[in-house]
Amino acid sequence: MKSSNITLVLRVWQGDITTLPVDAIVNAANPSLLGGGGVDGAIHRSAGPELKTYCAGLGGCETGQAKLSPGFALPSQYVVHTVGPVWHGGGQQEALALAACYRNSLLLADAEGVVSLAFPAISCGVYGYPAREAAQVAVNSLCQAFEDCHLSKQIWLVGYDQHQCTLWQEALAARP
Ligand code: ADP
Repeated sequence: MKSSNITLVLRVWQGDITTLPVDAIVNAANPSLLGGGGVDGAIHRSAGPELKTYCAGLGGCETGQAKLSPGFALPSQYVVHTVGPVWHGGGQQEALALAACYRNSLLLADAEGVVSLAFPAISCGVYGYPAREAAQVAVNSLCQAFEDCHLSKQIWLVGYDQHQCTLWQEALAARP
């Protein structure tokens, strides 16, 4: 049973997630885990080539699941790689898959002893998930999953631009 004196702090931060000196950053990866565009590309560039070599040994990742790697040259100790759903209009259980990304990433990080953790807006770039809805799914999922964590958490919800930060703030204001 979870100790009652562990706490969850959720904050919004605007900028490049690869610069954050947190215990772990989350990568919106693709199923190969071998790198791609967007935040995935930025993380691989900043971590250096050892990240791709390491990820090649992870055997890929299914949508909604999460896998861990070292951060290599990043200021963060770990990267949690998760694969968000591609948006197909909402009728293909995209919300469940997106919620699973946040939950599985948080629980994997918790099991590794992570306290400070930063998330990008998973699936809200090339995967096309509507960002307002995604922010609500994310905040709800993180609050629920925290109930199963063993350590306190400081979570940074990262927006690359001001609009995404506003959406994070709105979702936090509406948190259950
Ligand atoms: P996906 O394929 O899951 O949609 P993307 O990388 O295309 O992933 O986009 C996810 C989100 O990450 C978008 O909101 C995008 O603006 C944002 N993003 C892109 N680069 C960075 C970065 N360096 N730091 C933080 N967020 C980023």
